[in-house]
Amino acid sequence: MFGFLKGLGVTLSQIPKKKVTLQYPEEKPQWPERFRGIHQFNIDTCIVCHQCARICPTSCISLSGHRDENKKMRIDTYDIAFEICILCGLCTEVCPTEAIQMTDRFELAEYNRDDLYKNMEWLYQNHLFYTKSEPTAVAETAEDTAGKVGDKA
Ligand code: SF4
Ligand code: SF4
Repeated sequence: MFGFLKGLGVTLSQIPKKKVTLQYPEEKPQWPERFRGIHQFNIDTCIVCHQCARICPTSCISLSGHRDENKKMRIDTYDIAFEICILCGLCTEVCPTEAIQMTDRFELAEYNRDDLYKNMEWLYQNHLFYTKSEPTAVAETAEDTAGKVGDKA
């Protein structure tokens, strides 16, 4: 009986306290500044150095590029398999141009495993969303090239 009353006392003492639960998904959590969520990718600043793919501990990044008429490397395809990405952030740490960065986005549930494979266009759209910018001419060119590569496959 004493144990029951003691337990009840603990329960009642919680009632006036501020609620810590959120009505998710209507209410979204506020993540800390350095939260590591799903990536965004900037087509314009990637120099196709492959450092992100090399350091990735789960080998979930695959990319390809070409040299343009000005001898600059341009990205053609950039894919991340989120099925095996552990959101460690190493790819963002080694990127010399900050082309790949993490966001506070975390909702990635899918019914189909294949849908966890995100391509350059998807990652770039994420970039546009977070930077609130418009697609650039370079991005459109890269998209065309990616389309041609995809057509050949
Ligand atoms: S966050 Fe880690 S596991 Fe995910 S793509 Fe980057 S390096 Fe690979
Ligand atoms: S995203 Fe960064 S690290 Fe990866 S290839 Fe592009 S420039 Fe290099």
